[in-house]
Amino acid sequence: MGSAVKFGGTGMNVVTHRPVIPAKAGIQGALDPRLRGDDEVVSAMLTVNRINTFYGETQALFDVSLEVGAGEVVALLGANGAGKTTTLRSILGLTPARSGSVHFDGRDVTHATTHEIARGGIGWVPDDRRIFPTLTVARNLAIARKKTRFRSWSEKECFEIFSALEYLMHRECENLSGGEMQMVAISRALIGAPGLVLFDEPSQGLAPKVVQDVMKTILRLKGEGISVLVVEQNVQSALQVADRAYVMNLGAIVHEGPAAQLREDEALRKRLLGV
Ligand code: ATP
Repeated sequence: MGSAVKFGGTGMNVVTHRPVIPAKAGIQGALDPRLRGDDEVVSAMLTVNRINTFYGETQALFDVSLEVGAGEVVALLGANGAGKTTTLRSILGLTPARSGSVHFDGRDVTHATTHEIARGGIGWVPDDRRIFPTLTVARNLAIARKKTRFRSWSEKECFEIFSALEYLMHRECENLSGGEMQMVAISRALIGAPGLVLFDEPSQGLAPKVVQDVMKTILRLKGEGISVLVVEQNVQSALQVADRAYVMNLGAIVHEGPAAQLREDEALRKRLLGV
């Protein structure tokens, strides 16, 4: 195990290229490999193919397609209301797509229930964290444990990432700070044995140093071969850790490319994201 993430610690490493990291448990049964722009062959862990999603009669997603490779970190960026959260909700079966398909780990999960999708190995760190406030940290983690074909993390391994967590185990979650809650939310996802973790605005409401630690944790997951799809308003932070990025606008994908392109091309970034 690597060193623990200490909240309030020093700065993070900036990823300047995408290292090839084979997924520990994602290659078998994965979908068609494809060539990426940098000529690496990446197996798809998640493939979203032309989904259209509605809230009642209002269409929120228009032919959205995206892919997350095994052991890849992908950022989904865009303004408020662009459709990022709805994309995650469709992947999770919370707001199922009306047409199109979602494949995870070689299986069609388009019409699977949220429960089945979670048992298949998709972990979720929601923007509001959704921790049971009156339960202790230990209890919140205990009820998250489940078996998938991926590896479940032990509490001890979570303590190795978040050193403060061990000392919070008997605290009720309603008394935790935002950063502490985020540690619990990420640990809960890991204990649930994910092959892919969806992060919805993980930096929301957190102090800058804590945001850096969350991003560092995302890199740690990648190092363990876990795929990550991260929705972020905090463009700079997300681009620091992502291999590739998609940009959404008005419910559609309007840009797809290496994260390095958006990091380095200020004009493109300003045009697409205004920052
Ligand atoms: P934000 O960062 O503000 O959460 P987002 O990119 O995640 O934005 P979504 O939350 O996916 O965007 O919203 C996409 C569109 O769907 C918006 O027009 C929004 O108003 C609409 N929408 C979201 N949730 C609902 C809902 N429960 N009922 C009806 N419309 C909704």
